[in-house]
Amino acid sequence: MNDVVICLFATVGFDKASQGLAGAGRRLADELGGRLHAVVIGSGSDKLASELATFCDTVIVADQPELAEYQPETWLNALVRFCGELSPRSVLLAGDTYSQEIAPRLAYRLGGSAVGDVVEVRIEAGTLLVSRQVYGGKAQAVLELRRSPAVVWLRARSFAPPTPRDEVATITHAIFEIEVDTRTRIVERKREAGGQERLEEARVIVSGGRGIGGPEPFTTELQPLADLLGAQMAASRAACDAGWVPPTWQVGQTGKKVTPELYLAIAITGASQHMAGISEAKTIAAINTDPDAPIFKHCRFGIVEDYRKVVPLLREKLAALQTGANQSPDSAPR
Ligand SMILES: Cc1cc2nc3c(=O)[nH]c(=O)nc-3n(C[C@H](O)[C@H](O)[C@H](O)COP(=O)(O)OP(=O)(O)OC[C@H]3O[C@@H](n4cnc5c(N)ncnc54)[C@H](O)[C@@H]3O)c2cc1C
Repeated sequence: MNDVVICLFATVGFDKASQGLAGAGRRLADELGGRLHAVVIGSGSDKLASELATFCDTVIVADQPELAEYQPETWLNALVRFCGELSPRSVLLAGDTYSQEIAPRLAYRLGGSAVGDVVEVRIEAGTLLVSRQVYGGKAQAVLELRRSPAVVWLRARSFAPPTPRDEVATITHAIFEIEVDTRTRIVERKREAGGQERLEEARVIVSGGRGIGGPEPFTTELQPLADLLGAQMAASRAACDAGWVPPTWQVGQTGKKVTPELYLAIAITGASQHMAGISEAKTIAAINTDPDAPIFKHCRFGIVEDYRKVVPLLREKLAALQTGANQSPDSAPR
């Protein structure tokens, strides 16, 4: 009853969010004095299962052909079966789309409680408490989850990875009768434009808003800056809705929640719905012509200026710094 189950999907792999999930699961199981079980769904799970075996007490892989592809109801049926058998105190999932979709349904089917976008999980006087950001990150709500199991999906990069242990768990390949349910089926797959690393995993983000003025400057001004910084590109909803950049770039309440070391907001006003996506960013820097733009209340560094003047200067400076760093001491100008 004090056990914890973490649910992972082979197609997502052992990315930073999954590592954080494993870390959160391990620490919670240790706090509860219970065992940590990993359930991995989908084909090609072997590598992920081996990674998990170094942190978990048991690893169950469900990779039958019926579970190879994402199919929400069928994957849910499999998870209900495993979690039902293990009777855990808590079931933790990562923040990927599959997990977000499945978590509340899983909680309902297990008779437990559900909560998402969690940035902290802890036990206090025997009670399971979770924290999540509210009011666009201006405040934090602490929730007590009374019904067991507590089914929780975690915000990406908000949890530290686990430390490998000496023991390695046995990996069990579960073969069982699957209830295939095809109420929902995938009709088409499209690769995200740009094929870049997941935005939620980015350490540095260059983000543009409506003040950029059109699609071209995203390519000619912002992208070269992002390249110099080794950053990923993102945008406000206004810029995405205008069709200037792909919708997958949207950050905010109805977009992605990001947690970079540096978030550079260019010509973004800083509406609360945008800030909801960046409240966990370590450092926010902003460029905006309006000194009263709300973004300046949230950022650590701010420049009140037209981005068309600032961005080329930033690029020039960064390029010079990189050239200097690449020059050997002998060839450096004296
Ligand atoms: C239910 C709901 C959900 C929403 N979800 C999201 C969400 O997930 N993400 C999101 O981003 N928004 C979201 N929004 C929209 C949000 O309220 C704002 O409308 C949006 O974020 C504004 O985008 P923006 O800052 O790019 O544009 P604007 O508000 O138009 O701001 C443009 C800014 O650019 C500055 N600027 C103009 N020209 C220049 C220049 N040359 N150089 C420098 N600065 C310049 C201006 O001073 C201004 O501050 C949501 C709204 C609702 C109602």
